[in-house]
Amino acid sequence: MRTIPHNPYDLRRHDLPAILATIDAEVRERFGEGTLPEDIPSLVGQPRERFGMAVVTLDGDVHAVGDARVPLAIQSVSKVHTLTMALHEAGDALWRRVGREPSGDPFNSLVQLEYEHGIPRNPFINAGALVVDDVLMSLHADPENALLAFLRARTGNPRIGVDPPVTAEERRSGPRNIAVANFLRSFDNLACDVDAVLDFYSFHCALRMDCVDLARSVLYLANAGECPVSGERVTSAEGATRINAVMLTCGTYDAAGDFAFHVGLPAKSGVGGAIVAVVPKVMALCAWSPALDAKGNSMLGGYALHRFTRMTGLSVF
Ligand code: GLU
Repeated sequence: MRTIPHNPYDLRRHDLPAILATIDAEVRERFGEGTLPEDIPSLVGQPRERFGMAVVTLDGDVHAVGDARVPLAIQSVSKVHTLTMALHEAGDALWRRVGREPSGDPFNSLVQLEYEHGIPRNPFINAGALVVDDVLMSLHADPENALLAFLRARTGNPRIGVDPPVTAEERRSGPRNIAVANFLRSFDNLACDVDAVLDFYSFHCALRMDCVDLARSVLYLANAGECPVSGERVTSAEGATRINAVMLTCGTYDAAGDFAFHVGLPAKSGVGGAIVAVVPKVMALCAWSPALDAKGNSMLGGYALHRFTRMTGLSVF
């Protein structure tokens, strides 16, 4: 009988604490690389010499290193959660209002929206996320609490919440998002009040979670749509496959091709410096370090995930 020389999916073969410790040491050597975002005041002044990483397996094991329990602004990582809720509740009708192709443009660009008649390329650029928010607002009387309940159930952490000053600051510092929302409205692709949609968008960008909770919050995407923490079905198996596909192709701004090349996992990043990633059927991960590369992804978070998939062989390719 032919034997598989090395099956990366057999987690007993990996010394995960040692792998994370190695990555942590390598990353700390590189502190200073990358830049902090300039357009979000609360992120400008934050300490940049921080790194945390968490791995949560479907068997229930949690491995964490560095600053993995420090709460951070999850920013655009929240777009995975809102997409999951909207897709589960609105079904495939959602895809009539938002596409699923990489944009190749910055996340807050207006250009494509004009010539593609108000249908955003994908749910992870800001225009697409605003449409997803509009869908959720049409379905929930209190979308903010519905999202909080979703995240608390995914993680088992009832304390997850937002930073109210950051919500207010996001709201004030987002002229481009205001333009995008009004643009969507002019194409009849936003049904709710524009200001209310922008409030909800700012709210979920200002959510604070740590790496362990962030990894847990997407574990259902490794588990065919069922949340291992609460036992609930969060989305169908097909929904999870599709969300993973959109994360792989569109989840890391316009660097998704490079990310697939170097890391090889469905992932979603945010300007707060967090990146969540999924190894289908095995685990979810989160790596966080605040300084970003030129495309807006965490410089050292991306490096950490690259090292992880190289050291374990756990990429989808
Ligand atoms: N609140 C940020 C914005 O909309 C989120 C950006 C991000 O994390 O991609 O501009």
